[in-house]
Amino acid sequence: MNDKHPPERLSAFDMVNRLFDRAADLLGLSEEKRTELKTPYREMMVRLPLRTEAGEQKVYKGYRVQHDNSRGPMKGGIRYHPDADLDEVRALAALMSWKTAVVNLPYGGAKGGIQCDPEELSDLDLERLTRRFAHRLEGFIGDHEDIPGPDMGTDARVMAWMMDEYSKFHGFTPGVVTGKPLELGGSEGRLSATGRGLFFAVERIAPEIGLDLDGARVAVQGFGNVGYWAARFLADACCRIVAVSDVHGTIVHADGFDVEELNRVREETGSITNIDLAGMETLHRDELIAQPADILVPAALGSTIHEHNAHRVNCRLIAEGANHPTTPDADRILADNGVTVLPDIYANAGGVTVSYFEWVQNLQQMRWDAERVDRELRQVMHDAYDDLKAAADEFDTDLRTAAFLVAIRRVAGAAQLRGMH
Ligand code: GLU
Repeated sequence: MNDKHPPERLSAFDMVNRLFDRAADLLGLSEEKRTELKTPYREMMVRLPLRTEAGEQKVYKGYRVQHDNSRGPMKGGIRYHPDADLDEVRALAALMSWKTAVVNLPYGGAKGGIQCDPEELSDLDLERLTRRFAHRLEGFIGDHEDIPGPDMGTDARVMAWMMDEYSKFHGFTPGVVTGKPLELGGSEGRLSATGRGLFFAVERIAPEIGLDLDGARVAVQGFGNVGYWAARFLADACCRIVAVSDVHGTIVHADGFDVEELNRVREETGSITNIDLAGMETLHRDELIAQPADILVPAALGSTIHEHNAHRVNCRLIAEGANHPTTPDADRILADNGVTVLPDIYANAGGVTVSYFEWVQNLQQMRWDAERVDRELRQVMHDAYDDLKAAADEFDTDLRTAAFLVAIRRVAGAAQLRGMH
């Protein structure tokens, strides 16, 4: 490996491409092919003026980056967050192409977002902003073109508004958006899908690394949709959730927290740190990753494990619920310290996988029951692990590079067969 790696101040998109290049090096991919696969297919920035309910005039920026469509329509979430700028959305769009390829869904990758703080917006403001965004994108998305889904800061309501706005122009089209409410063609199991998929990935690798889930200690960074459901499924498998963090702090308890109780406290007070439990310790949020645990689940923002704190990670297995939580330099430190990493493009692919099931149900005008969704999701996650493991063994490399190897082979293969499209 090159000792003189560039400093850590890379853009999010550069970081994703550094991971891409590690695998591309092993595959001996030409510069031309790399450029083609890295360059987004289409990028959009739209102006979103909003007159708020309170009478203020605001202007937001919305983005949709469509990264690749060689293997199928582009797919990826819509994020409402102050950090959702073009670089971040572009990085996340590329990750979606690799993610859908790793789990072998017939999709390409895209991502979108509005740079805003949804907490500051009223329900009506959020609806107006969402409808305007959907209106702007209307000519560029579609159930065989680009299919948005939920991400940080968006939920089933937002997806319903997007679907409704699009349908004003194109007729009732439930398959244009996933993560919808059940009443509008949403799927059983979509809400919990990312956490459940992450659990299936952990369940699959645990015996291979000699990890007994019964009593295993888990630290969860971030207690949003992904963190909560991941914690819940791990707790159901008899893991102990010994440390949890949110933006307000880290809470630690050696006996393990009751995940439902944490969720109740979060819903009622806005933060898990308000839980009142004897023997519990409260620390700064940055202390989460250093807590002794068997499994660490980063389920917050990107780049939270970096070159300055990776040496403090004190676990055997990292299952990445968030997108790009680990920087490339941190990756190297973790590998040196013998930490196994289930990479984001595999570990958190359960969300987009159940989005795919939702889309299939919409196109066929069918409904699957929850049991079928779970069964099929488990199969996808376990099969993808086998593909990753085979590539890791073939190239004698880590699971992240293996995931990129599998993904790049699939995307490059499809692109090659389609020609210059
Ligand atoms: N936002 C999720 C992700 O990062 C899922 C996107 C989708 O369902 O389209 O994978």
